[in-house]
Amino acid sequence: MYSLAIDALADEMRDAQRAATSAGGATTATNSSAKDSTASHLPVSELNFCGEVLKILTCDGCGHEWTRTEAFSTLSLRLPAGGALAVTAGRGAPPPTLQSLLEGHFAPATLEVTCEKCGAIHAKLQQKVSRLPRVLPLHLMRFDFSGRSIVKRPDAITLSPKLSLFFAASKDTAPPHALTKPTKLQGALQLLT
Ligand SMILES: [Zn+2]
Repeated sequence: MYSLAIDALADEMRDAQRAATSAGGATTATNSSAKDSTASHLPVSELNFCGEVLKILTCDGCGHEWTRTEAFSTLSLRLPAGGALAVTAGRGAPPPTLQSLLEGHFAPATLEVTCEKCGAIHAKLQQKVSRLPRVLPLHLMRFDFSGRSIVKRPDAITLSPKLSLFFAASKDTAPPHALTKPTKLQGALQLLT
């Protein structure tokens, strides 16, 4: 059923690129909102993968809070620590779900970063999706570091046809960048849910 969405995406990209070509390149594409202006120079093929995350850092020393926004086109998901070894020994937990790995990626963490107010070197990190991508490739980091070598992780993962970023979104989360014409993909995705 994913092929339906992929076919619709391919059609959408072909149509949008044809529209851009027929415009002769003399005029720039206009977007439906001012928020899209920063990405207006990107080709449709890249707009589909543009997401943004808001990173909120809170100093462990003085509580100073600062934010930064970063773009992402894919997410690299870590496997649970020791998962493959535990399964091999016959005492492992059930395979993690892809949704749980996605939520783990956005879980609060402590970073080594210097506070500009007090000089402390640790800060709490919280992440929120500030703009949803239209398409989100996920990369499973199937490896661990062991000394100086890298060990492959053959862990089983429980897949689901439906994933959600709702847990990392808020009322301020922006929708995907507008393309140059209404999207057929939205209809195809609705058929999948
Ligand atoms: Zn501080």
